[in-house]
Amino acid sequence: MNINLLDDNSLNALHRLVADAERIVICSHQNPDGDALGSSLGWADYLRSLGKQVQVVVPDMFPDFLQWLPGAQQILRFDKKPAEVEQAFHAADLVFCLDFCQSGRVDSMAPLIEETTAPVVVMDHHPSPTIRAALLVSHPELSSASEVTFRVIWQMGGFDCMTLPSATALYCGMMTDTGGFTFNSNSPELFFIISQLLTKGINKDKIYRNVYHNYSENRVRLTGYVLYRKLHVYPKKHAAYYILTRQDLRRFHYIKGDAEGLVNMPLQIKGLRLSISLREDTERENLVWVSLRSVDDFSCTKLAEKYFNGGGHLNASGGRLLCSVEEAERIVQQCIEEL
Ligand code: 5GP
Ligand code: MN
Repeated sequence: MNINLLDDNSLNALHRLVADAERIVICSHQNPDGDALGSSLGWADYLRSLGKQVQVVVPDMFPDFLQWLPGAQQILRFDKKPAEVEQAFHAADLVFCLDFCQSGRVDSMAPLIEETTAPVVVMDHHPSPTIRAALLVSHPELSSASEVTFRVIWQMGGFDCMTLPSATALYCGMMTDTGGFTFNSNSPELFFIISQLLTKGINKDKIYRNVYHNYSENRVRLTGYVLYRKLHVYPKKHAAYYILTRQDLRRFHYIKGDAEGLVNMPLQIKGLRLSISLREDTERENLVWVSLRSVDDFSCTKLAEKYFNGGGHLNASGGRLLCSVEEAERIVQQCIEEL
């Protein structure tokens, strides 16, 4: 099966960029998810196998259920170690941006990418790339940045020496960005890739459990609370929303990642096509995080752009509102009314 992505020019350019580099920074987006970390760690492992010095950096904390990923503990967080991240960028002679393609997605780390003198390579699956890159590997039709990364490693001839940790990280990214292969995951190529990863000895059942059966009691109870008490369903609009206020989050001792994936659950209701989650930031005033999920050809990207200062994929988008939760609720209600 042909899973190559790069034309000859791009492939040669990438080989040359990597060959000429010694110190490489791999950077991913704010609120790193399984795909952000999976693609970064998988790619880092490949580059290290070529003898490169590699540092993975992210803007901020990632959830508990991803801490087990091999290499996760060596990732540098900009919010914790800004000087070290800046130093890594200054020393870098090549920078990779994985699982994002707009500098706004790394928040206050954006200037480091915009001002680096090193060539920047973007490997991603989000639409509308805007980062100025020496090489852009942009594939919005693919499941995940981890799939893009696997295909690039494959095409560069790196599969034979792919390690188990790298295969595990890449599988984890594909799995999390497709909700355990339940959306954006209908291509034969993806399952060909998975079959190849299995030959490396990944334990896909364990990876699933590590991510999805690793919740705190608080998280499970928060889920129950949201579905029972907080969910507003509009059957005629085939839509639902819920809001997690600071008070709710405190009550369930919320830690980052506890609300991850919750937004998918209302879509279990027969006939529902759109689910929207609003979550008040635990620290910043007037900041409400928005997640949207939809099914089939119903685009939530357009809603994310129009109402929530965001964007994303056809069926999974996000954004933010800079206002009170009360005002945010009015906006989400208006969004649903206007469907
Ligand atoms: P989540 O709901 O998991 O936070 O985000 C779902 C998807 O929406 C992410 O994978 C990302 O592609 C996209 N997304 C989230 N927030 C933003 C945003 O502020 N801007 C854009 N362009 N995309 C976003
Ligand atoms: Mn992704």
